[in-house]
Amino acid sequence: MKLMSSDKKWNLKCLVAAVVTTLVVFLFLNHFLNLQKQKLKADETLKSSVYGNLLWTEVDRELNSLLFISNGMASFISAYRDDLRPEKIKFILKDLWQRSKHVRNLGVAVGYKITYVYPEESNSQIIGKDFRDIPKQWPKVKQAVDSREGVFDGPVDLLQGGRGFIYRYPIYLDDEYWGIMSTVINTDEFLSAAFKNTPKNHQFAIRSYGSKTVFYGDPQLFADKNTYKQTSVVPNGKWEWAIKNHSNAFTDQFIVYQLLGFLFSLFCGAAVYRMIHAMRRLSEQAMLDSLTHLPNRRLLQDRMDIAYHSCNRSHKMMAVLIIDIDYFKKINDTYGHDFGDEVIKTVANGIKATLRDTDTVSRVGGDEFIVLLKEFKVLENVHSIAHKLTEVFASPWLVLDKEITIHLSIGVSVYDPENPVGIKELLKEADIALYDSKAQGRNRFNFYQK
Ligand code: GH3
Ligand code: MG
Repeated sequence: MKLMSSDKKWNLKCLVAAVVTTLVVFLFLNHFLNLQKQKLKADETLKSSVYGNLLWTEVDRELNSLLFISNGMASFISAYRDDLRPEKIKFILKDLWQRSKHVRNLGVAVGYKITYVYPEESNSQIIGKDFRDIPKQWPKVKQAVDSREGVFDGPVDLLQGGRGFIYRYPIYLDDEYWGIMSTVINTDEFLSAAFKNTPKNHQFAIRSYGSKTVFYGDPQLFADKNTYKQTSVVPNGKWEWAIKNHSNAFTDQFIVYQLLGFLFSLFCGAAVYRMIHAMRRLSEQAMLDSLTHLPNRRLLQDRMDIAYHSCNRSHKMMAVLIIDIDYFKKINDTYGHDFGDEVIKTVANGIKATLRDTDTVSRVGGDEFIVLLKEFKVLENVHSIAHKLTEVFASPWLVLDKEITIHLSIGVSVYDPENPVGIKELLKEADIALYDSKAQGRNRFNFYQK
């Protein structure tokens, strides 16, 4: 029972070592994988931010061209303030429109009333409208007038149909509001032109900061927490950008790498488990007799030392029995060495079966065994055990289909803490008792008599 529980304890220790190894390896690998992931994520963010800046530079360039148109118009109005004939204004609008790119139409409101528009054909219906009567457009117009700066609006629903960006530019003459110039831009054309030279290695979307209306790209990119977000300033407003990071094989397959890491950790744990077991087996083998797997002389010596000290502490007795097979040479000579080996194994099993698990049965060489009986209470118990041992082989035994007679001679010495002797002495006494048994005709036991 005790042997079982020590085995269980050992197994538990091995298991704990294996689990700890698995955990440590897994945590280490996981930490390493996370570092890699973070590094790649940082790289991706950097790449996306560089890409985002590139995109914004392109948009900014296109926006600047709009600024030129508006400035051109404002300068014209300022220069010809005393001679602002409609034909002149129409001519300059036409000229500016022809020089511009992606501009759907240009409009000039004198005061707040849209007075001129180019091209007129498709936009004439807006002439005469007052911005103050267009609730959707008035706030931005007012913002431009109040701030005296260009305001970028949109995309907005246009009065003449369709959608577009509108750049409102207020014109002041001698610090007095004169009117406002509106440049209506074809959103798609404008953005396609802006991004035509940028490499298409990232997906991206743009929306206006205030209304959150996505006017370019897939709106889902804003909901995706893995996209890189940036904000850029347009005249009197902001745009938000969502740029998709490159789908990276490592990041995508992170779970797979984690799983592989876990399997590797399990493998390490299992290896440690097996290694500790193998080491224990080796150390056990060094302590066991290879033929019978009984403790050898080394292990017996250890057990005797422990029992000896324990007896001295508890004032209990212990006994040593040296057992030798009678006429074993004859068995060897008659049936051969291998058969002799089988007889030795049979005797080992027979002795073990007669004793308790807590008693030590060892083979110390040849046909000789030593039994250690620990901490018994009455001497009669040793007597009965010695007697039982000689009785085990009273009738013939079947070994490898051959019926043979096995007899044992036994010498017993008893250690009593009241009359202490050393371990060597105790063994010597048992040996003398064995000699007596042999001398008295064998197949018997003898107690050492002082
Ligand atoms: P006794 O009755 O006085 O004990 O005489 P015995 O014939 O048993 O001889 P003894 O005990 O003196 O010697 C034991 C013999 O056992 C000597 C050796 O040939 C043999 N022997 C030793 N080791 C082994 C072994 O591992 N296997 C086998 N088959 N024989 C062994
Ligand atoms: Mg013998």
